[in-house]
This record gives sequence, C-alpha cells and structure tokens, in this order.
Amino acid sequence: MSLITVRTEGLYCEPGNFYIDPWQSVEMALVTHAHADHAHAGSSRYIATQVSEGVLRKRLGDQIDLQGVQYGEKLKLGNTWVSFHSAGHVLGSAQIRVEHQNEVWVISGDYKRNTDPTAEPFEVVPCDTFITEATFGLPIYNWETGAETVRQIYEWWQSDSDRASILFCYAFGKAQRVLAELTQFTDRPVYVHGAIETLNEVYRAQGVQMLETIPTSEMPRDYTYAGDLVLSPPSGHRSTWMKRFKHPQTAFASGWMAVRGARRRRGYERGFVLSDHADWQGLINTILQTGAKTVYVTHGQNEVLARYLREVYQLNALPLKTLFEGEGDI
Ligand SMILES: [Zn+2]
Ligand SMILES: [Zn+2]
Repeated sequence: MSLITVRTEGLYCEPGNFYIDPWQSVEMALVTHAHADHAHAGSSRYIATQVSEGVLRKRLGDQIDLQGVQYGEKLKLGNTWVSFHSAGHVLGSAQIRVEHQNEVWVISGDYKRNTDPTAEPFEVVPCDTFITEATFGLPIYNWETGAETVRQIYEWWQSDSDRASILFCYAFGKAQRVLAELTQFTDRPVYVHGAIETLNEVYRAQGVQMLETIPTSEMPRDYTYAGDLVLSPPSGHRSTWMKRFKHPQTAFASGWMAVRGARRRRGYERGFVLSDHADWQGLINTILQTGAKTVYVTHGQNEVLARYLREVYQLNALPLKTLFEGEGDI
C-alpha cells in the first residue's frame, strides 16, 4: 500500500490520518500554501507554516482551527513524522515531508527555483517518492530571473507618461513579487486594486520590503493616473473598476505569456513572462536532486513530464490525477 493515496477528498495519508491540500472538507488538512486550488475552506483542523497563517486566515476565515509550524519542525501525526520545507513559490509556501517506517515521501505543492525576494528559497528535501507539480512541464518554458523581467516591466511603465500603465497579475504572490523587485528601480508609489492591497498588508506584517502602495478606492474619481503604474488581479480586466482609467496601456505578467498568442487572446497589449512555478529545467533539476526513485506528477503537463522522466532518466514516474490547477488562469 502506498503511504499517500488519492481519495475523492484529496491526497490522503492513512498511517497519519490526514489529507494534504484536500479539495473537500476533511477532519485534518495539511496545507502547502494559500492558493485557491490548495487551500479549501471548511475542514475541522488545519496545519500550515506559521508564515502562511496570515494569508490563510484572510482566505479561509479568521476563525479556522489552524496550527502554525516552523519550517523543518517535526510533528508526530499518527504513525508518521511530518515536516514543512520551503517551496519558494509564495510567502510561507511549503513542501510537506512525510516519514513512515524508513520511507520518505515529499509532496511539493507548487514550487519554483528562481530567486524571489518575497518567498523563502526552495529547499531540496531528499526522499524516496516525490509528488511534483508540472504546471510548466514543457521545454518551451524557460524563465529569466524575476529581477530581469521586472526591469522590463519598469521600462514599459516609464515608456508612457501620459496614460496609466495597468499590469494584471495574480493577487497573491505575483503582485507582491513585482512590488518588491521594483524597489531596485524606483521609490514611486504604485496604485493597486483592493484585492491586492489586503495581501500587501500581510506581506508587510512579515517584513517584506515593497514599494508604497495606494488603493485606487482612496483616490478621487477624477484622478487621471497619468504616468502611474496600477496593479490589478486578472479579474479586474473588463470589470467596472476599469472605468476609472482613460485609455490605459495594459499588460499581463504570467508564465503563460511564454506561449505565442496567449497575450492577444486575452486582450492585453503586452505580456511579461513571470511565473511563481518552476520552469522545465527547474522541474527536472529538482526531481533529480531529491534522489527520488518514484515520482508522481500533478498539475498541467503531467503526462509529458512523467514520460520524459521514464525515458531519459529511467525513473519510475507516473502522472497522478488530482484537482490541482495551474497558475491562476482566472
Ligand atoms: Zn500556488
Ligand atoms: Zn497549484
């Protein structure tokens, strides 16, 4: 029997009697991070990293029964030892290591290897079996550094002093990463949609340095935003919130912008390739570094990556069907 199995509710560990990132309500949920496909409301008890507690409470409710743990701290759950290790994905994100009778499994959650000033760096955790994500598991995905991409965003912003420059990006993680990387280039304030500002507060409470932000709701209706940078979640595009801007220039920051045609289809003028997931080489390197002989692949390109691992590296690699999704295509 496998240490971790897939049930209707999510990934389940029987000797520990807990679920990891369940997509239904359960008794005991261990949560890798607070993105919607990993953090589901309604479970009786939660365990997550202490750093992620602020965002989890914002998203799942202040009253949830949540035990915060330190990275690397060992917990005894049933007949297993469990610990959380940084995943480099967003603030407080973790991989979960489960040990049972000399067997070690690591469940990656979402992760990346590129430097990000807003997230703890990824830790390689040796294991026998690794459950990896594969959101960007195709060789066409090759990221530049976040600093380089944000420099391009800064230049785009500076290129138009008459109009607002609206950058659409995921509200949790991506927006804060942009705001933190931008401190290398400017100290001008950035205007933000309310959905981003609530998360900025959590990041600042954890000591993350970012540009000053001003919610657009605090600005007079006739303010022009000429030459200003504005950040919005993708849901702000084509919403009534957009009516306050006259002829803005628009762009989208996402790993999906690496795909030809994706920007145009979504109606943005510019696309910046910026992802909080590992790129193709990042996935391969990580899988090899864990030393795992068995690899289960979730999210997105799981068939392609599993086959590549089998054929090129002779690993026992299989796609695993889950309800996790790729980076917020919302
Ligand atoms: Zn995520
Ligand atoms: Zn995910």
